[in-house]
Amino acid sequence: MTNYQAVMMGSPIRLSLSRSNPQRARAVFQLIKQQETLLSANRDDSRLMAVNRAAGDRPIVVPAALFQLVALAQQISLLPGSLFNLTIGPLVKTWRIGFAGHSPPPIQQILDSMLLIDPHDLVLDPENQSIFLRKKGMEIDLGAIAKGYIADKICQYLAEQQEPFALINLGGNIHTLAHPECGPWQVGLQKPFATAQTLSARLAVSGRSVVTSGVYERCFLYQQQRYHHILDSRTGYPLDNDLLSVTVISDSSLIGDIYSTLLYGMGLEGSLAWLKHHPELEAVMITRDNKVICSSQRHFQCHVIDENQ
Ligand code: ADP
Ligand code: MG
Repeated sequence: MTNYQAVMMGSPIRLSLSRSNPQRARAVFQLIKQQETLLSANRDDSRLMAVNRAAGDRPIVVPAALFQLVALAQQISLLPGSLFNLTIGPLVKTWRIGFAGHSPPPIQQILDSMLLIDPHDLVLDPENQSIFLRKKGMEIDLGAIAKGYIADKICQYLAEQQEPFALINLGGNIHTLAHPECGPWQVGLQKPFATAQTLSARLAVSGRSVVTSGVYERCFLYQQQRYHHILDSRTGYPLDNDLLSVTVISDSSLIGDIYSTLLYGMGLEGSLAWLKHHPELEAVMITRDNKVICSSQRHFQCHVIDENQ
């Protein structure tokens, strides 16, 4: 097994290939860079930023892949009771969590940004493949799904290249290629708020994606209160519930990324009830008291390591 590492999209990226192939690794990192240029909300030169800059002014024609991804993200955002919101950008930027934010922003700033985060105000024109944000200051943020989308692209590329056995880790967003002669991949689930080496569980997966949304990665503590990076459009504040993390095991990393955020928003009971009716998705939840709970284990095995410590 050979590992290749880089830091991209503000995250550590690791590619594991069954044998040394620097050329292939270079091609994968190039692919990530290309996708970042399409999707990033933190880079002035991305195609997505062109749409954001033209908010309140005019529609922008975008490449088909970006159009489709935004259309899917809007659909998910408009589901009844959805806590996912692709137009959450202004609120995310107000909080600056994971960047410079170390205290909650003034309430007036939160209220102002909440006027600019209605996903109904995003207009798609399929004929022209253009996207229009109705109000000046609106911003699309694909931060909750971009890594999943890119992980799928990479696995697709590696499969096309007939790479027999591989793993891509995009800052905790993992996808794997399986091989019948190689055993499953072992994926560690970090224990929330512990050092990166301390695991709550180990998952054995083959050819599946493993995506985690957690409240312990990008967050800050202010006057004994923890503020993290998944925000609630209804309150303007970070979502608060009984979960510290949700890990989704699925075929597609994009679907896993969407649902890790959505299920986190549903809380433990809500997620378990929802997953009963969606057998194609499975999840491992870590609760506030560090309990590890699996919705089912049809396509992976979960070995719990560190509960109640
Ligand atoms: P991670 O960044 O840890 O992989 P997620 O996939 O859950 O976690 O994505 C969190 C990111 O999504 C945030 O950093 C922000 O850019 C964006 N975001 C925050 N709140 C929401 C929300 N309610 N709906 C959609 N995207 C969100
Ligand atoms: Mg996500």
